[in-house]
Amino acid sequence: MAFADLGLSDKVLQAVTTAGYTEPTPIQAEAIPHVLARRDVLGIAQTGTGKTAAFTLPMLTMLETGRARARMPRTLILEPTRELAAQVVENFDRYGTNHKLNVALIIGGVSFADQDAKLTRGTDVLIATPGRLLDHFERGKLLLTGVELLVIDEADRMLDMGFIPDIERIVKMVPFTRQTLFFSATMPPEIERLADMFLHNPARVEVARAASTATTIVQRLVAAGSEGHEKRDRLRKLLRGEADLKNGIIFCNRKRDVALLQKSLVSHGFNAAALHGDMDQRSRTQALDGFRNGETALLVASDVAARGLDIPAVSHVFNFDVPRHPEDYVHRIGRTGRAGRSGHSFTLVSRGDDRSLQAIETLIGQPIPWLDGDLSSLGEGGAGAEGETATRHRGSRSARGESPREGGRRPRRGSAGEARAASAPRPAPQGDRPAPEAESEAPPAARRVPRPPARAAAADRPAPEKTRGESGRHRRRDDAEGETPAGLGEHVPAFLLRPAVVKKQK
Ligand code: AMP
Repeated sequence: MAFADLGLSDKVLQAVTTAGYTEPTPIQAEAIPHVLARRDVLGIAQTGTGKTAAFTLPMLTMLETGRARARMPRTLILEPTRELAAQVVENFDRYGTNHKLNVALIIGGVSFADQDAKLTRGTDVLIATPGRLLDHFERGKLLLTGVELLVIDEADRMLDMGFIPDIERIVKMVPFTRQTLFFSATMPPEIERLADMFLHNPARVEVARAASTATTIVQRLVAAGSEGHEKRDRLRKLLRGEADLKNGIIFCNRKRDVALLQKSLVSHGFNAAALHGDMDQRSRTQALDGFRNGETALLVASDVAARGLDIPAVSHVFNFDVPRHPEDYVHRIGRTGRAGRSGHSFTLVSRGDDRSLQAIETLIGQPIPWLDGDLSSLGEGGAGAEGETATRHRGSRSARGESPREGGRRPRRGSAGEARAASAPRPAPQGDRPAPEAESEAPPAARRVPRPPARAAAADRPAPEKTRGESGRHRRRDDAEGETPAGLGEHVPAFLLRPAVVKKQK
């Protein structure tokens, strides 16, 4: 299948050639003809599959006829995060070089005035995050009754972030006769329900099994202690031991851990930047640009901030925490092993992560092997670094009747941008031990290890976090200060476990 066979306009085909694309990706080949035929589309695709072009290219073709009116956008694209929204604008810039279309970006964190001015001029394509869009609407600056085509992108992420009520509100303001394109990487029941509600007789286009992980990614679990310093210690050893590490994203479940871990890594000589939802837009853009252009080797990020970002050629993903929502695992590790390249993912597993891990393995339909060896028993912390992790891991190995590992690869010094960080200012360590003098004792990173002991049964999905979000209206999981376990989680106070003693009355 060639781009020329899809029904795209000459102007768009020219831009595609300029972009250097020779053939459409599967989602593009399947979706574009349906979009051009004005059908609703339900696209099940992860980022990295070319799904943005699957809607931007036909939209550009369709928008060549007609004109925009003031405050009445012709098309509307909803994105869960500012970065994703900005990325879609970049797509329109790239493929729309031969068009004279007005594209407006309506996101939080920046002033209303410029956005107002753009809306007043008339927009062909409005790309927005839900909160700020509603803010404009409530201020009477925007009418959605002229929207001919609506794109709801990353629907499962919208759900995770608590945006669905806003999306439902927005959809009610858009004409019933519109065309709707609905994209999601996974299709949990809530998303199926929304798709049924928003779409009319859609063409279903699926490019990969929902929640599948790329076969090009080598995934490993790594036993780690539960304390922050133990996990940071373990992470540093992993970073230093990975000879193939070119650049990597390190995901944390909580924003405060993102900031803490980034400072800790810098204080240990790593070249690391942070990306989380509390940072102002300028710092977020700076962090992202630095990582994209290779100035920064490691990006410590929260799920929401890093979701779906187009960062090519990431060699490694590290999960500093096991994600609480199994879909997040798929999204996180999807940052590596893209477009057929090989990638590595390591997930630090602490006591109490069993349920989350079980849910992930159920979702991806395969067990994740453990990284061989117990790094925590060796290296910089010496005996002090062992603690719970070493005991636990050794215990599990002996329980499997395995012998301790021998020999193997020595860790590479100066990896992960350490050298480049040498001249960078080193902030004071953040509750972490200072950088050691020598770091060469990490053990070999032999890869194949049998399964660990059986874990707890099926996972409960914890309730999403509830905190204030972008417009003050939403409550975003990314802003969470901590995870919310279902009920008492695994930490039932001891007094509740004691048998009740009923005193006899005299
Ligand atoms: P997306 O899934 O939209 O985030 O796109 C992932 C990456 O694939 C982006 O860097 C696009 O520039 C690139 N891309 C999109 N379509 C094609 C294509 N037909 N051929 C090669 N690369 C593409």
